[in-house]
Amino acid sequence: MRIMPVIQNYLIYPHFKENYELQNSHKAFAKDSVSFQAQKFPVIESHKAFKQLGIKKKVHCIYCNSRLTFDNSMIDKWKKDKVFQAPIKTFVRVLKPYKTSLRGTEYKLFEIIDNISKKSPDAHLSNVIKILAVQSNKKLLELQTPVLNKILKLSKELLPEYQEKLDALIMKNTCRLLKIPHVEEFSAKDFSYKVSKITKSLNNNDKDVKKIKKLTNILTIPELKDNEADISSEAVERINDAIAYNLDNPNYRIGKHVKKSRLKAKYLIIQNIKNTASRLNRDDIVKLCEDSQKRLDGVPVAGKFSNKAFSHDLYDVLKDLDDTKLRAKICKLAEELPTSETSIHAFILKHDEASSDTIGTNLLEPSVITVEHMKPSSEGGVDALKNWAYACKRCNNKRQSVNMKTFFKLFPADNANKYWRDIIDLSNKGYFSFEDTKEMLKIFKRQSSIKIDSHKKLRYIPDVNV
Ligand SMILES: [Zn+2]
Repeated sequence: MRIMPVIQNYLIYPHFKENYELQNSHKAFAKDSVSFQAQKFPVIESHKAFKQLGIKKKVHCIYCNSRLTFDNSMIDKWKKDKVFQAPIKTFVRVLKPYKTSLRGTEYKLFEIIDNISKKSPDAHLSNVIKILAVQSNKKLLELQTPVLNKILKLSKELLPEYQEKLDALIMKNTCRLLKIPHVEEFSAKDFSYKVSKITKSLNNNDKDVKKIKKLTNILTIPELKDNEADISSEAVERINDAIAYNLDNPNYRIGKHVKKSRLKAKYLIIQNIKNTASRLNRDDIVKLCEDSQKRLDGVPVAGKFSNKAFSHDLYDVLKDLDDTKLRAKICKLAEELPTSETSIHAFILKHDEASSDTIGTNLLEPSVITVEHMKPSSEGGVDALKNWAYACKRCNNKRQSVNMKTFFKLFPADNANKYWRDIIDLSNKGYFSFEDTKEMLKIFKRQSSIKIDSHKKLRYIPDVNV
């Protein structure tokens, strides 16, 4: 539904005064703000219509207050138009009007790219990041090494079985940080996670992308875990099916020697992914495949440090530890590691081998407009306008099911007021009905326990849709 205001000129309703007084019997709504300007707007019933209105009116995120000026469909369009793959002068020119939506790390990085584009307008995003990564690597090491050292020190307080595992984990990750190749096990789960991250920025209707996804899925089946035993006939069927689809050859069957070795089967599946990825010119997937084949071969690899993977592995190593205080202390230390959200260097390093499309998408995605359900659906919140608020994707994802009251503590106290000033202004102009806005405010108050002053400005606008 398109939001197209049809403004009608100063309609005066015979029963308007009566209605107005009835609606405004509550003291909270200012009596001096009678407006006779009635406007007709379509009722907002879909997320799409709500988001489109938000973008058009450049509303702010209810939490962080960043301005919301684009949605996911716009990112898809920029990708389709090859804006991210274009020389950075084009990238900067197209995206500058949306810069105000970016914040923190993404905003700073955009400014750096903007500056570089003045000197090297024809450079490409992926190359710029690659060059910046050299400096960022040094800066990041200065922040990461002390944290890992502190964890290593605490590890001495652990029982030997835990200490051994934790030391091995720190060793593996120190090698990754220093880019020293060392033997690492192949993890299908990790491989699949990385492929899903990369394919997120690709066209999922493309047959080659579908082929890569299908093959990747096979890698994660339990029958292919470990490297020893034979493969069950059911698993062989699935492998045949995925490779036959990949090769467009329905008669394809894996050989006898592959059937007897999970290791060889995994190697073959990854080889198929690699071939399809090179046809697609996806160097990132090709590199991931080469790296994975080395792992399967037991050859040292220069693994990439990932904060998320480290925290995940750390939790795994310590999950059964009886000393919960010590566990909490170690995990708290790990939180000190810079993330791509908090550190521009971490963002750059995370993307030093990424394609321009992935970099562009990840730079913009945290700032897209989303529909926040003030009362979460898990707690019975309805999926309707009265329960909707505008939020950037980062805040929306971060909140998850944390209650609003707790989540708001992370932001400046006046953010909520600023947000509602926008919404009440839209309501006063007739974009939302008086009743809907009143309901929105009620739900907000109940969920957040925040007192806002802007509700006093809410005016009753007669509904001319009826
Ligand atoms: Zn936000």
